[in-house]
Amino acid sequence: MITGKNYIGNTLSALGSKTYTTFNPQKNTENTIVFTEATSDEINDAALLASKAFQTYSKKSGKDKAVFLRAIAEEIEALGAELIEVYTSESGLPTGRAMGERGRTVGQLRAFAAHLEEGSWIAASIDTAQPDRQPTPKVDLRKMLVPLGPIVVFGASNFPLAFSTAGGDTAAALAAGCPVLVKSHPMHAGTGELVASAIIKAAEKTGMPNGVFSNLNSSGIEVGQELVQHPVVKGVGFTGSIRGGRALFNLAANRPEPIPVFAEMGSVNPVVILPEALQEKAADWAKTYAGSITLGAGQFCTNPGLLIAIKSNQLHQFSQVLAEEIVKVEPSCMLHPAIVGAYESNKAHVVSQSGIEVLAESSQEIKGNYGRQIVSKVEGKMFLENPTLHQEVFGPFSLLVQCEDKQQLEQVVKQLEGQLTGTIIGEGEDLFNYKEVVSALQDKVGRIIFNGVPTGVEVCPSMQHGGPYPASTDARFTAVGVGSIKRWVRPFSFQSWPNNLLPEALKNENPLKILRTINGVKTTNKV
Ligand code: NAP
Repeated sequence: MITGKNYIGNTLSALGSKTYTTFNPQKNTENTIVFTEATSDEINDAALLASKAFQTYSKKSGKDKAVFLRAIAEEIEALGAELIEVYTSESGLPTGRAMGERGRTVGQLRAFAAHLEEGSWIAASIDTAQPDRQPTPKVDLRKMLVPLGPIVVFGASNFPLAFSTAGGDTAAALAAGCPVLVKSHPMHAGTGELVASAIIKAAEKTGMPNGVFSNLNSSGIEVGQELVQHPVVKGVGFTGSIRGGRALFNLAANRPEPIPVFAEMGSVNPVVILPEALQEKAADWAKTYAGSITLGAGQFCTNPGLLIAIKSNQLHQFSQVLAEEIVKVEPSCMLHPAIVGAYESNKAHVVSQSGIEVLAESSQEIKGNYGRQIVSKVEGKMFLENPTLHQEVFGPFSLLVQCEDKQQLEQVVKQLEGQLTGTIIGEGEDLFNYKEVVSALQDKVGRIIFNGVPTGVEVCPSMQHGGPYPASTDARFTAVGVGSIKRWVRPFSFQSWPNNLLPEALKNENPLKILRTINGVKTTNKV
């Protein structure tokens, strides 16, 4: 049952007077449950509980944390139909998407559990002492990764489950040994509370300390700002807009003790279409891209917002088919009136720029909160001169940049900002003839795709989800896959420490049987 209250550790609490409701975009009405925003006292209580919980939670074994993560997955599944109903009522997204995202969320939790059970992620490194070394003896040094401390997590509007309350950031931080304080997303506060209740139940059942998890309601930015500035908080995970991510990054950097903010933000995901690929497959690629641009009403961080190619008859055919196909797609419901409003105004702003030609815009009758898809075109020269055209329009929108020649194509790619993904559509000799373009694109992105679409993010260890700024605030890390655990740890060395007082991962006997580096050699052997 949804109460509208905050979870301050294991306790439901609603001391504040500021309340709000979520919105059903399909029905175009407010939902009925009233949520109470967390007060400064509640934020402080949650943060102090998290700090206390860190003392014991950070020492839990990988196996114990894995039991906790698996229990969270089970409790989320046990929420059953209620979770799916609340998710769809707060997002306008269809049931199939809700179920798919739930599967992905519990799958992520279980993947982290398996990662912990295997254990080698901790990167144990041992350099044994050489007391007889000349001219000076060498000391015994042993290094491993240790958790940072309490982490604040901000979820995004477009992934109420997989990038929110028990999404990738939370799963990774809990796996690392860090308590989590979630700043609940106001657009899906009910989904958030249900998932929070599952995490709390799992924590109680598996004996995790009170404060290992808290969920704080908010209808504006203040709760998040207070959380980021709280002195016990040691890191921030953010998924959302560039504006929001950058504001929190600046806030964290200006603290007396600056802390890392891993913000995964918007992106236009450029798609470079090389000439030969259009010779025979212009129509096929146009159809494929009409589908990718409109998938989920374009509300994906990997939406292909920019298509870049060289002027030709085949490109003309591509743009014609794209225009025909895109208007055939049924418009879909967007997440919230505020998202529709931002989409409409960003779209209008781009279309009003000089040199923009609208290739096609859906003119179907649409219900309130539905988004009309649009593709437009601009010459390479105008694109190079106008940074407004380089920005994300969150929704079913894409801009085709028509370049004069290979040199201009390369110039356009080189001028792009950092991106989550880049795509090359190419055939035959073009892949060699355009290798400078491919290389320029590689420098701008976290993941490069060959003859495919950027939408669809596989959750697996080899996925890189994050890219050079402004796609992410730190391109060295991924937000998806078990590798994302590395954002919530720091390296720590023990020097000349007695074997019996060392953590299990570093003991001579290797009781965890993990892969370690001993005197430069990777091994599961004892010291
Ligand atoms: P958003 O408006 O940035 O909101 C995200 C969260 O941050 C919300 O809880 C929001 O609170 C909070 N927030 C925003 N600005 C803040 C500030 N200045 N101070 C404190 N808190 C602040 O983003 P969204 O509309 O939810 O999500 C859509 C965006 O996310 C798109 O740009 C999409 O591309 C991106 N996205 C990126 C990824 C990725 O992995 N890179 C994945 C999914 C989505 P309030 O709502 O209360 O303001």
